[in-house]
Amino acid sequence: TSTLFIVPTPIGNIQDITERAIAVLNQVDLIAAEDTRHTAKLLNHYQISKPCFALHDHNEQQKSATLIAKMQQGQNIALVSDAGTPLISDPGYHLVNDCRAAGIKVVPLPGPCAAITALSASGLPSDRFSFEGFLPAKDKAKTDTLTALLEEPRTMIFYESPRRVLDTVEKIISVMGPDKKIVLARELSKTFETIHGGPAGEVLPWLLEDENRRRGEFVLLIAGFKADPNALSQAVLQTLTLLSKELP
Ligand code: SAM
Repeated sequence: TSTLFIVPTPIGNIQDITERAIAVLNQVDLIAAEDTRHTAKLLNHYQISKPCFALHDHNEQQKSATLIAKMQQGQNIALVSDAGTPLISDPGYHLVNDCRAAGIKVVPLPGPCAAITALSASGLPSDRFSFEGFLPAKDKAKTDTLTALLEEPRTMIFYESPRRVLDTVEKIISVMGPDKKIVLARELSKTFETIHGGPAGEVLPWLLEDENRRRGEFVLLIAGFKADPNALSQAVLQTLTLLSKELP
């Protein structure tokens, strides 16, 4: 039977690809890629020559049927995106969903993912986390999303563009306060990799100080909400005071 392989690719350092990923790319009949020119560079580097098929956000639902038909005829296909793990803020969801519905085997390969890479070095709690993808671009929607996350107890992970990072940190300060702990993980696995964290109110001037600090690709992490234990005992104290008045 045919298989769809989900193949993660490097997020910056070309060496970050597994032996198994290279073997699978060499074995399949076809590679479904987000951007075929981008993927061609990776394939060239590893001297893999395979036909590529464009599958991006704007044509995925329609092209998925074509790929399913090819797999039903016996072809094995590898799905890759421009960087990291397919489906993680990248195309692939419709194809995988359709494959599973059609009874086609889906085999995922473990590999690079910017969110997990950033989390592992962030120093923020990693036992529970919430991947939030990209924040909305528009002001109000961004503020609303951050407001809805005010009491999220888990570490939150976002993808962020260099054009928006400053505005996002400003909004975090206004919605969540300047003491909210954040971490910026920039250019992971690349030459200018920088991982910088602290209270949002201190990260903002750090970002403003040097425009190079705003360049490149970012993962932004926000520490989860911690209920103040004193505030809680305050509430308990209040209740006790009220109760004590009623007690004989
Ligand atoms: N599928 C990818 C993955 O598994 O990480 C993510 C694809 S998403 C379209 C691209 C975003 O991931 C970038 O805008 C950036 O926020 C983040 N990203 C990708 N590579 C990165 C890197 N080397 N350093 C920091 N962030 C990165």
